[in-house]
Amino acid sequence: MHKELAIGIDLGGTNIRIALIDSSGKIKGIRKQLTHAELEMAQILENMADGIIQLLNEQKVKTEDVTSIGLGAPGFLSLGSGVIRFSPNLPSAKETPLVNILKRLTNLPVYLENDANAAAIGEHWVGAGQGVDNLLCITLGTGLGSGFVLNGKVWHGSNDLAGELGHTTLFPEGLPCNCGRKGCLEAYVSATGIVNRIQIALKEGRESSLKNLFEKQEESLTSLIVYEHAERGDRLAREIFEETGRYLAISLANVLNLLDLEMIIIGGQVSKAGDLLLRPTIQGIERRAIRAKYYPIKIVQPKLGDHAGIIGAAKTAFDHDTG
Ligand SMILES: [Zn+2]
Repeated sequence: MHKELAIGIDLGGTNIRIALIDSSGKIKGIRKQLTHAELEMAQILENMADGIIQLLNEQKVKTEDVTSIGLGAPGFLSLGSGVIRFSPNLPSAKETPLVNILKRLTNLPVYLENDANAAAIGEHWVGAGQGVDNLLCITLGTGLGSGFVLNGKVWHGSNDLAGELGHTTLFPEGLPCNCGRKGCLEAYVSATGIVNRIQIALKEGRESSLKNLFEKQEESLTSLIVYEHAERGDRLAREIFEETGRYLAISLANVLNLLDLEMIIIGGQVSKAGDLLLRPTIQGIERRAIRAKYYPIKIVQPKLGDHAGIIGAAKTAFDHDTG
C-alpha cells in the first residue's frame, strides 16, 4: 500500500524544523527545536531523532504509517552516499554520514537533499512556482541559498554541487566568503554581507544614523536594523540596499542569459526590504538580461515562507518511494 505521510526535515544552523506532511503537500504537524550547532553531529542527529519520535507521538502516528524521511541539510553534500561533506553553518559536520546515522536511529528510510534545493522543490510543488518548469529559488538569509528547477526537476549537477549561485564570483579580489574563497556573491548580498559592508563604510567615516549603534554595540547590527534606518531615510543604509540590488541584478541577469528562466523566487530576511532592494534588482536585470526585451521577468516572493524546506524535503521522500 502506498503510504500517504512522510517526514520533512530542515536542518539549519539555528533551528531544526521537523514536519509530518501528506502526499498533497499539506503539513499535518510540525515542531521546531534548536540545532545547537556547537554540538557534535552525532548528538545533533540524536536530538533530531528524539524530535521525530515526539512529533509522531503528538500526532498519534505510528512509524509504520510513515513512508520515509526527507532531510534537507546545508552545505556541500553527496546525495548518493548520504554524506554532508562540509557546511559553514554546521562546524562539526565533516564527511558525516547523516543518512546512515538517522536511518539507524529511526528505522525509516532517509533521503538527503540540499536545503536550498529542498526550498526550490517545495515552492515548485505547492508554492509560488507551481506549474513553472524553469525557475530559480533564492533565500537571502545569513547566507545565500539557491536551487534551480530545470525542465520541472531540481538540478543537482554531476556531483550534487550545482546551483551554488551564492559562491559565484562577483569581485575577483573581493570580500572573504564563508566558503573560504574571495568575492562571492553571498559575501555581498546576504544579511551578513550587508552588515559587513555597512561596517566597512562606517569605519571609513561615512555619516549615518547607524553610527551611534555601531560605536556602542557593533555586534548588535543586523540587516533588519540597516533596513529600518534605510526606511527612515538614512542615506548610507539606502545606498547599501541600492548597491545590493545592483549586485544581485548582475548575477541574476547572468543566470537568465544562461538559462532563460521563467521565474525567480526571492525570499529570506533580506528580501523583507521589499522595493528598496527589488526595484534596483529589477531595473538592473531589465538592462542586462536578453530575455527582458522579449518576455516578462517574473520576480516573485515565496509562498511557503519558512516551510518551503520541510515541504520540499517531504516531496523528495515521496519521489524516492514512488521511484
Ligand atoms: Zn563563497
